[in-house]
Amino acid sequence: MPRNLPKIIKVDIAIIGLGPAGASAAIVAANAGWRVNAFEKKSVAGYPVQCAEFVPAMLDAGGLVMSETSVQRIHEMITYVESDEPDLTKNFSGHMIDRRAFDASLVAKAVAAGATCTFGVKLKSVSDDGVLKFSDGQVVQAKVIIGADGPHSLVGKAIGSVNTDIVETRQLSTTLNKPHAATDIYLSNEFPGGYGWMFPKGDIANIGLGVYPAQKHLLKSALENLHKRISATGQVGTDIIGFTGGAIPVGGMLKADGILGESLVLLAGDAAGLTNPITGAGIAAGVMSGRLAGEALVSHLNGQCDAIDIYAEDLEDLFGASLTRAVLRRKQLMEQGARIGTLSKAALRGGWIAYDDYWRKDAA
Ligand SMILES: Cc1cc2nc3c(=O)[nH]c(=O)nc-3n(C[C@H](O)[C@H](O)[C@H](O)COP(=O)(O)OP(=O)(O)OC[C@H]3O[C@@H](n4cnc5c(N)ncnc54)[C@H](O)[C@@H]3O)c2cc1C
Repeated sequence: MPRNLPKIIKVDIAIIGLGPAGASAAIVAANAGWRVNAFEKKSVAGYPVQCAEFVPAMLDAGGLVMSETSVQRIHEMITYVESDEPDLTKNFSGHMIDRRAFDASLVAKAVAAGATCTFGVKLKSVSDDGVLKFSDGQVVQAKVIIGADGPHSLVGKAIGSVNTDIVETRQLSTTLNKPHAATDIYLSNEFPGGYGWMFPKGDIANIGLGVYPAQKHLLKSALENLHKRISATGQVGTDIIGFTGGAIPVGGMLKADGILGESLVLLAGDAAGLTNPITGAGIAAGVMSGRLAGEALVSHLNGQCDAIDIYAEDLEDLFGASLTRAVLRRKQLMEQGARIGTLSKAALRGGWIAYDDYWRKDAA
């Protein structure tokens, strides 16, 4: 008989990842009275930050931006297409948030609701029968597993839902020299597969860009060039406060449920491919899908047979149309890029939300 086999800890709900999606699911499930065990590989909630920290108002359903984590309001969007004069989009509002405080606030709510949130522990593997092995040696089996473990979700991989299309990003923070209340967007062939941004956050500016993974080698120099271009206008300083980056899923919605042994698996947020493939916005989708996943698992554990179907329907209703359009626009940009090499300014505009052409109806 083999000895020293680790004891399997049986729990009701195991949540992997305590970003916006996982923490939101934990809040709902714990508030409904279920025992929640959540695991996060970072040592501290929300830190290090991998985000440009903008939440558009139109996505802020249900007041996601808690007043204490909003740093400043955004009222407009300014889009620079190559070296053309910029285009102004009025009435484009939202909040620049303190993302670290935002994530920490959600986790604090989950803990207050009774969830056990463990930090500094990484999920190492998920077996076909739903056994979860963690970096601290714990082995856990849960009635429900929530995969809220981001774009490279291990839980998603275990049920065959994998983000294959991603964008790689790099961002720096610098001093913002004068108050600014717009998100500045840079569309250019210098950022193949993505775009550049400058988002103002009080007296700081987040400057970043995304590109196809195959063009990852361009990130460093393209970011330096973008920083130089913006600092030359006097809008931001030449100093660098810090760098960040990370992957953004851009392939669209994945199947967000599955079964492993006797465990039900639900995916939420980036793990479910809910980030907008054009804008890269995924904070609100993380919170909304996390809440829905929490509601679905509670209904499921309370014996409601169609809880999982309802989760799939809710995700489709909330995100289906916008993700489908964004995936299509992205595909069109890629095809045009592959065909003609350099995208025309019209093509760049047609692939961005500020322009009517983005919202055109495509022939069936
Ligand atoms: C550079 C950058 C800029 C962005 N800017 C914006 C923006 O301005 N606005 C916007 O709306 N969206 C933005 N996004 C996207 C946004 O950050 C995500 O969509 C959002 O964080 C998704 O939330 P989530 O909870 O699904 O995933 P995450 O926030 O990624 O949380 C997943 C968590 O799971 C943890 N985890 C992963 N694997 C494991 C494991 N094996 N074991 C334990 N824990 C694990 C991670 O540490 C992480 O904390 C940006 C993304 C990047 C990379």
